[in-house]
Amino acid sequence: MVAVERGVDLYPDGLTYAIPEPLEGVREGARVNVPLGRGDKPTRGTVVAVADHPPAGIDAGRIKPILGLADERAPLTPHLLDLAHWISRYYLCPIGITLQSMLPAAVRREVGLVTTTFIERAEHPPAVARLGPKQRKVLEVLENRPPDAEPIELHALAGEAGLASPAAIRAMVSKGLLVATTRREVAGRELPDRAAAIPRPDLTVEQATVVEAVGATLLEGFSRHLLFGVTGAGKTEVYLRLVEQTVQAGKVALLLVPEIALTPQTIARLLARFPQIPVSILHSGLTAAQRHRQWSLAAEGKARIVTGARSAIFAPIPDGELGLVVVDEEHDPSYKQDQAPRYHGRDVAIRRAQLAGCPVLLGSATPSLETWLNATSRGLIRMHRLSKRAPGLNVPKVEVVDFARERRSFADRRVHLIGPTLASGLRRCLDEGGQALLLLNRRGYANYIACSDQRCGWIKTCSECDAGMVCHRPEHRDGPGPEFLRCHHCGSEQRVPRACPECGKPVTVFGLGTQRVEEELRRILPDLDESDAIVRVDSDSMDAPGDFHRVLSRFGEGSIRVLLGTQMIAKGLDFPGVRLVGVVNADTALNLPDFRAAERTFQLVSQVAGRCGRGEAAGRAIVQTFQPDAPAIRLTALHRFEAFAEAELADRLRFGLPPVRRMARILVRDEDLAAAEAAAKELAERLASLPESAGIELRGPSPCPIARISNRHRLQIEVLADDAAAIQRLLQRARAERWIRPGEKMAVDVDPVALL
Ligand code: ADP
Ligand code: ZN
Ligand code: ZN
Repeated sequence: MVAVERGVDLYPDGLTYAIPEPLEGVREGARVNVPLGRGDKPTRGTVVAVADHPPAGIDAGRIKPILGLADERAPLTPHLLDLAHWISRYYLCPIGITLQSMLPAAVRREVGLVTTTFIERAEHPPAVARLGPKQRKVLEVLENRPPDAEPIELHALAGEAGLASPAAIRAMVSKGLLVATTRREVAGRELPDRAAAIPRPDLTVEQATVVEAVGATLLEGFSRHLLFGVTGAGKTEVYLRLVEQTVQAGKVALLLVPEIALTPQTIARLLARFPQIPVSILHSGLTAAQRHRQWSLAAEGKARIVTGARSAIFAPIPDGELGLVVVDEEHDPSYKQDQAPRYHGRDVAIRRAQLAGCPVLLGSATPSLETWLNATSRGLIRMHRLSKRAPGLNVPKVEVVDFARERRSFADRRVHLIGPTLASGLRRCLDEGGQALLLLNRRGYANYIACSDQRCGWIKTCSECDAGMVCHRPEHRDGPGPEFLRCHHCGSEQRVPRACPECGKPVTVFGLGTQRVEEELRRILPDLDESDAIVRVDSDSMDAPGDFHRVLSRFGEGSIRVLLGTQMIAKGLDFPGVRLVGVVNADTALNLPDFRAAERTFQLVSQVAGRCGRGEAAGRAIVQTFQPDAPAIRLTALHRFEAFAEAELADRLRFGLPPVRRMARILVRDEDLAAAEAAAKELAERLASLPESAGIELRGPSPCPIARISNRHRLQIEVLADDAAAIQRLLQRARAERWIRPGEKMAVDVDPVALL
């Protein structure tokens, strides 16, 4: 059985092919080429099952043979294959697509794979009448090498013999004077340079308690743990100790972090701590060849620590070697993949640890309510706490500022985004020599173009999507360029209209975006305006992956005084100079049409507030909001996660929402609205007609909060039940009936984290 890299959804088996003689002994997990379709188009796939007989009902004479091996990689290990089956089933994704997504593109395309040739002297060289001077020199080099030296690489040998090319050596090989062996390897330099080892701080009592408790489970099979500790509590230190113990026990440790948190700071800290231990780092900032190289280090079992963002959970660590899985910032939404397979990295991590029979440690200051519920009333996850910040850090004082009131104090009628409290806070922080971080969570409604006459109410929306277009101003070396509009859902761009198409009045930009905050900041801090002391980071201002890294190192050195940005700056940064953190508008996340809006707001504000108070001086966080009484904001300011979680869980219970119940979301899309509506209605009726729907609540179909993207209308059906198994029974049945067919017109999102 072969699962092809296509959307053919034949769960769980894939397609049947015969094993030709040269491939006898081919195993599950091998990557092969098979003929597909009427034209027998060669297509890549993975062997998912090997059997002695063709399955019943299939005419053996009509089974096509496998064409050959697709690459020389080691086959997928049984555990990873198992994981693929689980993902394919649980997230309703065709097995072929699941398997494909587990292998980085660079690995599939074999980027950087080179053949290296090694040379040795022949044991019994034939008698050769005359040797040329070059050949004598080569033999001389080889003779002078110590008897137990490894074979020397071809070009290195040529170099040592002073030859311009290895042609003479090759000639000697063909004469039988020398013996050549080849090795296929991924080329590429090791990354990044290792710094000197940094000292290990003495653990606090709390840290030591956790390290001991989790450490005791290291070789004891599968177990689940939550490390719940305020930001700056020293969770990373706990991970590092456990990673170290794992490696000392001869196992491999896998550390997952959110993509954004993979700053050079985090990586440098890991590498500097363990200068002797080979580490494989998998993240999107690498070139294809580097990725392949890093992946190979893990596959060959050389790397003893593997780290990376979401997809690193598929790192090819050999079965039996994995000893610990850590998921840092487990609540982070970036762990959820937003295209098929729509898996959640944290949940896959738990599954992988279970397959490997090792502990999994989730860490967060603001755990997802899913994890929180499992660690508290459900008792499925063992909780460990760090209640105090690490020595030398102080707890930031969080002040909530009612922006509606502040706004009244402005004398002019300009749009102000930074109120007097934040402005004077910035001033003071800078005067005292501190640095500041300013967060603007730009998702939400920002920088829209609208009619200046509010009675008209016209607002520029994308012609392909039911969403507003956002105004951007590109930056060039010689100053800002002309403004243009971009849709953040389909990426289309347009010029800014001069006048309102409805009434002809001039248009204005309203809302707030990072660019506008930057302009205002420069007005408030004129003395910093001319220097590079204010820097904005967001996906528009940071082009190359290296840009952000360079900004961070300048911030670390102190030449940048104020760093302004989106979520990019909310995570994982550890800079002692930061005394002030400002949240420009805490409401952008709070107002999203998503039941997790409050949870996200709490997470974001605590994360960013946790960036300050990491040095000697006290930290201060100022949160501007129009909703100072919203629990998510009030309780973040008081550092009361548990009270927030309790209140929020009560709400979820009342409305029958996750994590109290489980959810799957089925998305139906079509360019034709009537067709989309009909398909969604039919599916909902079919689901309701199944006996498996007993005890399940079906909501909808209803238009999605963003009802149209890229000119496709979107409707959703929400499937809710008390347990995941009930949802699975219903969805699997509908999948078997072929009513649910994930693809262009339908998407299934099991345990969705965003509902737009
Ligand atoms: P978290 O991951 O919980 O946000 P970090 O691990 O980043 O916290 O720790 C915050 C800071 O405290 C880091 O600079 C870290 O080096 C330091 N730190 C952690 N544990 C200790 C300790 N036991 N003694 C001294 N400093 C520590
Ligand atoms: Zn659009
Ligand atoms: Zn108008």
